[in-house]
Amino acid sequence: MFVISCPYCGARDQSEFSYGGEAHIARPEWREDMSDAEWADFVFMRSNPKGVLAERWVHSAGCRRFFNMLRNTATDEILAVYKIGERAPEVQAKLPATPCGEAPIGSGNDAVKVMQPGEAE
Ligand SMILES: [Zn+2]
Repeated sequence: MFVISCPYCGARDQSEFSYGGEAHIARPEWREDMSDAEWADFVFMRSNPKGVLAERWVHSAGCRRFFNMLRNTATDEILAVYKIGERAPEVQAKLPATPCGEAPIGSGNDAVKVMQPGEAE
């Protein structure tokens, strides 16, 4: 359990919020020749990084407003919270070590050692 800082209400318990998926996903313009694969790419394919991800959240048990959050998916650290329509701020994230050399996407690694930028293993 962690605390999320709503940009409208301030710090509240995570249980008051609902996840809304990856942020900044633009719906493609409708075209007659749009293929099923192109539409499926918009609907289903997400970046799923191990590291910083821009997410959309809603304060469902509070002000009920959507906002964006930059979260380190490897450590669950909340790096920034910003309103819809604002640009994501520049942030630095520490990635945990990947002892088996897993890919940076979707490894599910639970290693606890936190690497500093530029630090060698
Ligand atoms: Zn709120």
